[in-house]
Amino acid sequence: MSKKEVMEAVANEVKACRKCRLGDTRTNAVPGEGSLDATILFIGEAPGYWEDAKGRPFVGAAGKLLDTLLSEINLSRSTVYITNVIKCRPPKNRAPSPTEVETCTPYLKRQIKTIQPEIIVTLGRHATSYVLSEAGTKEAAGITKLRGKVYSVKLFGLPVSVLPTFHPAAVLYNAKHKDPLKRDFQLLKSLTAKSQQGH
Ligand code: URA
Repeated sequence: MSKKEVMEAVANEVKACRKCRLGDTRTNAVPGEGSLDATILFIGEAPGYWEDAKGRPFVGAAGKLLDTLLSEINLSRSTVYITNVIKCRPPKNRAPSPTEVETCTPYLKRQIKTIQPEIIVTLGRHATSYVLSEAGTKEAAGITKLRGKVYSVKLFGLPVSVLPTFHPAAVLYNAKHKDPLKRDFQLLKSLTAKSQQGH
């Protein structure tokens, strides 16, 4: 199967998924979107109100901030891939439960293995925790300690640079996270430049 066929198959399964109770309360499942040849994969936590309404990732207030951060480092949504740890909105935007993460992440794993990104930016603690523990390098620390550094890991057999940062929504609640988030995007810019030199 081609990349496109695998990603379409995953998206169709996600849209029809009934593996957990979030399937009963969602309006739309949100598989993810972007370039299948992306070098950079962004992983958020879970769809919120607007994502659930539209079936697209990061289209609410946090998404607007993500768009701004991307444009400040000359990236656009069409050249990266954006998805979430879990694909359906938890009621009232509560955090995903461990069972929901375990049930849903086989989809994310297939997406990662298909896109084969060089860089994964994990937005917030849920994405960071999933990626670093799958890579066998989970450090016993919260996002504040883990963010802003690049972890060179093997994820599902692939070499990847993982850059954990704050979730854009965290900045909307607490402005003190804004500068670190911006600095992490500058680090992403320099990583991207390095990865282009390597080609
Ligand atoms: N927050 C997320 O984690 N993901 C989205 O898609 C939107 C908001």
